[in-house]
Amino acid sequence: MNPESDPSAPPEALQQDTLDSSVFRETLEQADIAVSITDGDATILYVNPAFTRITGYAAEDAIGRNQSLLSNKTTPRTVYTSLWRKISTGQPWAGRLVNRRRDGTPYLADLAITPVRNADGVTVNYLGMHRDITILHELECQVRNQKALIESVVDTAPVLIALLDANRRVVLDNHAYKKLMADLGMQEPAQQILAAAGLEPTAKIEEEPGEFIFQDREVCLERGGWGAPRWFSCSLVSVEEDDATADAFFVRQRRRYLLLTAIEITNLRAEQEKSRMAALRAVLAEAERIDGLRESLSAAIYQLEGPINVISSAVAMLARRSQSEPMAHALADAVAAGQAALENLRSEIPPARFEEREAVSVNELLRDVLELSTRSLLAAGIVVNWAPASRLPSLVGYPNRLRAMFKALVDNALEAMNVKGWRERELNLSTRATRSGIEVVIEDSGPGIPAELRLRVFEPFFSTKKGGGRHLGTGLSAAQQTANDHGGLIEIDDAVGHGCRIRLSFPLRNSEGGLA
Ligand code: FAD
Repeated sequence: MNPESDPSAPPEALQQDTLDSSVFRETLEQADIAVSITDGDATILYVNPAFTRITGYAAEDAIGRNQSLLSNKTTPRTVYTSLWRKISTGQPWAGRLVNRRRDGTPYLADLAITPVRNADGVTVNYLGMHRDITILHELECQVRNQKALIESVVDTAPVLIALLDANRRVVLDNHAYKKLMADLGMQEPAQQILAAAGLEPTAKIEEEPGEFIFQDREVCLERGGWGAPRWFSCSLVSVEEDDATADAFFVRQRRRYLLLTAIEITNLRAEQEKSRMAALRAVLAEAERIDGLRESLSAAIYQLEGPINVISSAVAMLARRSQSEPMAHALADAVAAGQAALENLRSEIPPARFEEREAVSVNELLRDVLELSTRSLLAAGIVVNWAPASRLPSLVGYPNRLRAMFKALVDNALEAMNVKGWRERELNLSTRATRSGIEVVIEDSGPGIPAELRLRVFEPFFSTKKGGGRHLGTGLSAAQQTANDHGGLIEIDDAVGHGCRIRLSFPLRNSEGGLA
């Protein structure tokens, strides 16, 4: 093809075969990289001005000497051996050597050597090109050192650290995080923490870099099996980094990550829990004392009211027969004295405890009760099966009264089974979200309540226990009162084969609808 007719052909002046060799020379002379041309034994034949600038050797000092004049004698011999192995077989070599300038100062050279062959394919010369990369290397080292330092700090920190990408995959983590992962049976802790903190997997992160999505949120990780739950205080912050890909070199692009940090607070929680339990125990003991007093006085009033009413009727009868009946006067005096005593007793009944209504988690209340009763349950050899609903609406009510009610029901179950010679000792506790609200079932494997007495047990002062039991027979009636005050129902399930199954239901209209 005629080159003139080819529009893609280079202009005449730039065609290689017409380029003057002086152009090549000028190019080398002006190149801003140290260039040397040697013979086959590395004896220098030519150096350019940049070579002189970098090494301090003028052309007349360098020409005729071996390239080894640049050696600082600290580059390992193996490097030279592999350099020569390559170039002497006609292949180019590139690498880093420690060089020494004419003034004795060392520098790091980034060198590329290309064998130059003659028309027969025999290597006759070598072309060397090198740059001083001392500063670059120092910067690289600083970055590497800093990275290593940060990594060792991050790794030895007692805080769990994980960096998550946009798909919530862990792209970087530390030793503490890996250890927790092993403890969790190689399940990714990050996903569990985010779920426990209430962050849906698909939730969009709107927070700007540096902003917390959540901070110091306490979450509980259940280990399943026999492992006790572990508590962590967690924070999630949005972070960004520059995109390092080539197409982001001029147009700055940023990548969004989530930095998750967590500190284990299981021991702290255990301490807090211990204090909370001690406080709860005190509150419950005081409540039991007051309730006991109220019950005892009410029982005494109830017991006295009967005979006084009988005597009152007798007085009325005698009075109808004769106004002057001396017995009538004496009995009337007795009735008046009795009623005065009753009034005195009524005034001694301590007022019911005042409590604010609030949103409560029934699961937590029952957990408290189990915790408070652990010692007695263990001492009685009772096996507890606790099956809380994983999601339960919260109930608006009186937490202390509800807790006392559940405690009384658990105590009843415990007492029923803790009888000498009774073998079956199992307590089942469960919660469930129903269509209409919340259901709690407390089931024991004790002797149960005979069918004919299942309604009467809710009457005040009725008891199946010999001597009236601890609560003088008001336990279930008080529980019924508490359930009613929460708009709920308490019933004894007839369906159970043996033992006693108490079912409590609380309607949703009385709940907040939040999930506990
Ligand atoms: P040397 O005895 O020179 O070499 C060490 C090893 O290299 C020997 O054991 C041998 O196996 C091998 N070797 C040496 N010469 C030859 C050869 N002619 N053929 C086959 N194998 C051989 N060195 C630097 O330190 N800094 C530089 O900037 C540098 N630039 C170079 C540029 C070019 C174009 C070339 C060709 C070489 C360059 N060299 C450079 C390498 C240099 O020639 C020396 O090999 C090196 O400096 C080591 O010198 P020495 O006296 O310690 O050991």
